[in-house]
Amino acid sequence: MIYLDNAATTKLKKSALEAMLPCFDQNYANPSAVYLAAGKARRVVENAREIFAAGLNCDRDEIYFTSGGTESDNWAIFGTAEALRDKGRHIITQKTEHHAVLNSCEALRRKGFEITLLDVDENGIVDPAALEKAIRRDTVLVSIMAANNETGTLQKIGEIGEIVRSKRTLFHTDAVQAFGHMPLDVKALHIDLLSASSHKLGGPKGVGILYKSLDADTAPFIYGGGQERGMRSGTENVPGIAGFAAAFEEREDTKKVSELRDHMTGRLLKEISGIRLNGGIGMKLPGIVNVSIDRVKGDSVLMRLSSLGICASTGSACTSGNGESSHVLRAMGFDKERCDSSLRFSLSGENTLEEIDETVDALKNIVDDFRSITI
Ligand code: PLP
Repeated sequence: MIYLDNAATTKLKKSALEAMLPCFDQNYANPSAVYLAAGKARRVVENAREIFAAGLNCDRDEIYFTSGGTESDNWAIFGTAEALRDKGRHIITQKTEHHAVLNSCEALRRKGFEITLLDVDENGIVDPAALEKAIRRDTVLVSIMAANNETGTLQKIGEIGEIVRSKRTLFHTDAVQAFGHMPLDVKALHIDLLSASSHKLGGPKGVGILYKSLDADTAPFIYGGGQERGMRSGTENVPGIAGFAAAFEEREDTKKVSELRDHMTGRLLKEISGIRLNGGIGMKLPGIVNVSIDRVKGDSVLMRLSSLGICASTGSACTSGNGESSHVLRAMGFDKERCDSSLRFSLSGENTLEEIDETVDALKNIVDDFRSITI
């Protein structure tokens, strides 16, 4: 198998597996209990919290463990809306966000909040000046992702953070695709809330974090026994947290990944006619290549690639297969044909040059085949 769908999920790193295994059959006590064995489990959780706090340049008390990126996004949005509902009911986000953000905002709209959905340019980038104009006295939250899951486009979160801070509003960023793949210093970037997920960087599924600055007024989202300092109840996923921290510590070789990406992009653009890059060349995550190929259907190409053991995607894993064009590419102003002929390849440090070359060769043959049929 050639796995080029790392933006959907990643293979578990060996270091993550090794960190997790003892938490199942030896160090399995509930971290909230009082005996010695519980203290050991507690130390696993607290050690991980320190690793993430150091990685983001924040206080350990600003890290909360969750069940993943979707929960962290929901918590940041619903929790802030709940805490600040008397201050204002206006939230700003943008059109290419993940549905974890878009659908949370939509749910709030139905409850009487006003949502401003900012446009993006043809590279998928939000204009910080347009964002500044959209902020009002009653704006309680601005949610702009760090990196897009379909195109890899990076937003100008440093500039956006500065603007939002100067307007005394809270800034949330969905960093699910960026975390562990690029440096993120929440203090330097003026980020108040940040969502991250373990399974996008070689950790297990079903675990994530919400960074919440000590100054951010955000209500709890899950109520219960009072774990995570009363902010996120539920017995901690100790094996998941241990694996997530180990995967995060073993940073990816981003230089290798971007070299593979550039090699793939270069060959595709040179060797396949009528191919267009979605999301531009600069301001991108190291591992994502998103292209549209004239006169072919992305879904059909994927099936053929799949029959050769090559795994790629047409859009985000959560929405591909539902028959709708990508909301991300549509927001970038592309017509239906360009959206429906798109393919996403997301690379990791585990991929090799040979795998990339094999994929490009296979793609060239498939495209030639389809075009010869449709002529
Ligand atoms: N946000 C982005 C940008 C994502 O890419 C994803 C997953 O695809 C999520 C949120 C949801 O994360 P999780 O799968 O951990 O719930």
